[in-house]
Amino acid sequence: MNSWKDNIRKVVPYVPGEQPKVDDIIKLNTNENPYGPSDKVRSIRLDLDNLRKYPDPKSSLLVDKLAEYHKLKPEQVFVGVGSDDVISMCFLTFFNSDKPVFFPDITYSFYDVWADVYRIPYEKKPLDENFNIVKEDYKKENGGIIFPNPNAPTGKLVGLDFIEDIVKANPSSVVIIDEAYIDFGGETALPLIDKYENLLVVRTFSKSRSMAGLRIGYAMGNAELIKYLNDVKYSVNSYTMNTPSLVLGSAIIDDEDYFRESVGKIINTREKFTAELERLGFTVLPSKANFVFVSHKTVPATEIFEKMRENKIFFRHFNAPRIDNFLRITIGTDEEMERVIKVLETFCSATK
Ligand code: PMP
Repeated sequence: MNSWKDNIRKVVPYVPGEQPKVDDIIKLNTNENPYGPSDKVRSIRLDLDNLRKYPDPKSSLLVDKLAEYHKLKPEQVFVGVGSDDVISMCFLTFFNSDKPVFFPDITYSFYDVWADVYRIPYEKKPLDENFNIVKEDYKKENGGIIFPNPNAPTGKLVGLDFIEDIVKANPSSVVIIDEAYIDFGGETALPLIDKYENLLVVRTFSKSRSMAGLRIGYAMGNAELIKYLNDVKYSVNSYTMNTPSLVLGSAIIDDEDYFRESVGKIINTREKFTAELERLGFTVLPSKANFVFVSHKTVPATEIFEKMRENKIFFRHFNAPRIDNFLRITIGTDEEMERVIKVLETFCSATK
């Protein structure tokens, strides 16, 4: 007998990092920024009366602000509900070929989920033994390319020449650089969008802008790419961005000094924390993100993960080939990372 269940789109969903419902924890498992918004943004009074109206479907307040900030035209900016929404729309819009989309085997684990849900063929290209992206792998026939720079969860950065080489070699597909973590020490591919009409750069407010709860992401590229993205967006949901997000999001972009200062603090803490981890016998991949990807020389990752959890400190562990003995640790405040080192010291040492 046929069942209604036969016609269901069955997917294996992405599993987001845990959001524990308790307060007194050190939460270093989802790459949030510990600093939150500035006092200036905190003091904004939202006009709740205004919420009876639909938001501006064009999100002009935020789009214009981002365009001005990045010295682009508003037609070159697309906004969405976090970069997850933006990238999902990109998969739907740009990866519409029978040829496979390419991304690394170790990367943001949402990419294969979007490909599966939209039934887009894909091939994962293995990182080399040092967790580097192998450029030549991306010079074969494909239906699109996406990778984060710096990559996640490795934290490893590639340079602009590397990206330009890949974009240049692929004039017949769209290349998406997911710059979720670029502000923590990388060089943006943004200048290349004037030169290559098939390049799209995606950013988020969730990491360097410390606003994961607001859900804002955006893409930048030539006006034609952005037009196609908007056509698909308006065919799914015209009102993706709510009014408070537009107001707060645009105020956050005005807060340049605060932004620079908090990013600077995180970079400083990352460097100090890395040195301490190495002292305790950890191998730490060189990170240009707000997290480090680490493995201990003798203590298994799962054991460290559990011990830290018992101490109310949350790291991220991926039960996936090649990286199951690694842990991803978000960079918190100096005080948080000092506490992490104190707890780690009780059972990890370089000589154990
Ligand atoms: N890209 C990468 C590489 C990420 O790590 C994340 C965070 N999980 C995202 C995109 C999505 O971030 P958001 O939806 O919060 O903008």
